[in-house]
Amino acid sequence: MDKDITFKGVPVSPGISVGEVYLYVRNNFEINSRDLIPEDIEKEISDFKRSIEISAKELSKIRNYSYEKIGEVNSLIFDAQLEFLQDKFFLSQIIHRIQNEKRTADFIFNDEITKLEHALLASRDSYLKERFEDIKDIKNRVIRNMKREKLVSKIEENQIIISHELTPADTILFSKRKVLGYATDKGGNTSHAAIISRALRIPAVVGMKDITKSLKTGDNIIIDGSAGIIIKNPSEKTLEAYREKIVLLKEYEDKLKEIIDLPCTTTDNKEIELTANIDFDEEIDFIVNTGHCGIGLYRTEHLFLEEGGFPSEEKQNAEYKHISDVVYPKNVTIRTYDIGGDKLLPRSEKEDNPFLGWRGIRICLDREDIFREQLCAVYKSSINKNIRILFPMITSVTEVRRIKEIIKEVKGELEKDGIEFDKNLKTGIMIEVPSAAILADELAAEVDFFSIGTNDLIQYLLAVDRGNDLVSNLYQEFHPAVIRTIRQITDAAHKNNIQISVCGEMASNPHAVMIFIGLGVDELSVSPSRYPEIKQIIRSISYKEAAGVCEEILKLSSETEIREKIKKFNRTILNENSVTRLL
Ligand code: PEP
Ligand code: MG
Repeated sequence: MDKDITFKGVPVSPGISVGEVYLYVRNNFEINSRDLIPEDIEKEISDFKRSIEISAKELSKIRNYSYEKIGEVNSLIFDAQLEFLQDKFFLSQIIHRIQNEKRTADFIFNDEITKLEHALLASRDSYLKERFEDIKDIKNRVIRNMKREKLVSKIEENQIIISHELTPADTILFSKRKVLGYATDKGGNTSHAAIISRALRIPAVVGMKDITKSLKTGDNIIIDGSAGIIIKNPSEKTLEAYREKIVLLKEYEDKLKEIIDLPCTTTDNKEIELTANIDFDEEIDFIVNTGHCGIGLYRTEHLFLEEGGFPSEEKQNAEYKHISDVVYPKNVTIRTYDIGGDKLLPRSEKEDNPFLGWRGIRICLDREDIFREQLCAVYKSSINKNIRILFPMITSVTEVRRIKEIIKEVKGELEKDGIEFDKNLKTGIMIEVPSAAILADELAAEVDFFSIGTNDLIQYLLAVDRGNDLVSNLYQEFHPAVIRTIRQITDAAHKNNIQISVCGEMASNPHAVMIFIGLGVDELSVSPSRYPEIKQIIRSISYKEAAGVCEEILKLSSETEIREKIKKFNRTILNENSVTRLL
């Protein structure tokens, strides 16, 4: 038997488990498309209503269990599914079609939901694409109940679930059987199954393409949710190495719990602000769990995605006020819509080069009505005085000056209406386009703070698409041009006495922390899952030493040399228990 056969996917929930596979195959029910005779129509409709009721009952039970297990915020998907299932307009449309077309309820219901699925799948936005699974779950549930079938699964305790796809309901229900891990052919980082497995703290890897064809029930595997891999038939040597890793990780996690309340300072007492990036509401719990860290980047695109359009000022106001209350007394940096690029657009036309097209602040300045509404909502939510506002995709001083004019008008209107708000609310800009980096000195004179968006800065600086696998080897965080540009931006910020933060993914890379510290960055805003680890690393670095090594790094002209220098530095300063050693 071949040993150590490794499969790679997208890591979505960290942790390591060793166990047996349970291959979960969901039943596909045949759709009955026959014509109905008039006498059968009423019965068909009452059977349909009954299956909706049973499905709603099932979902309520799942929701209640989920509330108990992972809390209200993480369980919102089940409320949304229930709401959809009980939508009066949708149901009456189906009943109307059964009466008019005289076709079976399963045919009509399937047809209506399939239309919706196609619309979601056709979306260029990965978040919306993944909502497809949530809708599909409702479809399967109702059709199963129309066929009066029971949900059956023969899973035993302590198994690793392998499936083509997993719905949020599957994920939560399987967890009752002490599941050790999940892996699926399909899915992405923002699928609800991924979010739920993170909340359950069960390792999960998705997007494994055809893992269901390579594994069967009973196979022995290792699932590594941090690296995004599955190892089939692990050899004794591999098992031993992983057992050791599990022990180390456990020790490390315990250690992290100890440091969570400690100050975020370097060994020579330079204070670094460590904050979190928040993309979805589900992540807000994290803020509370870390003893209320601040938010360095609150992406508002999710409001647009969930709403399928621009949310009302009231809805935004409620959302921003809520987040400001949760984070208080720490700060939250709310970024105005950065739609376009790889995210959804408020119109259907395709652009040849979306990353170089109608995106971020360009849309806001073209659609001033929408922009003013968002600004109004942010200002109205600012009475705690802990909100800052951040503008994405800035390329020129002219844009910043226009934004400031609009802000002045918005504030004037609020004052005229006697609405209370934070008059000193700080405004900042993302530095993520080379032109903004070049103009950093002039831009710094216009705003209160900078936030470096390394994700875009690297793609625009090196002309490498941030999401294209074919050129991923050229997307180099430690390219000399990247490091020197960060230095230039940081110096411009400090020369003008404004704060400099980094909120791109590079800030969450443990190996890169010494670079940011050494170059003099004031704040790092990182993914929630990396937060404790980055804090531990900051607490192990001497600012003075890192600054010295950065001076040497700035003279190097190749990425390989820079990597070597960083590795050498990190080897000497990171202590024995750092997870970085395991990466
Ligand atoms: C960035 O570009 O680094 C950034 C934080 O913004 P986004 O990833 O949302 O484009
Ligand atoms: Mg960006």
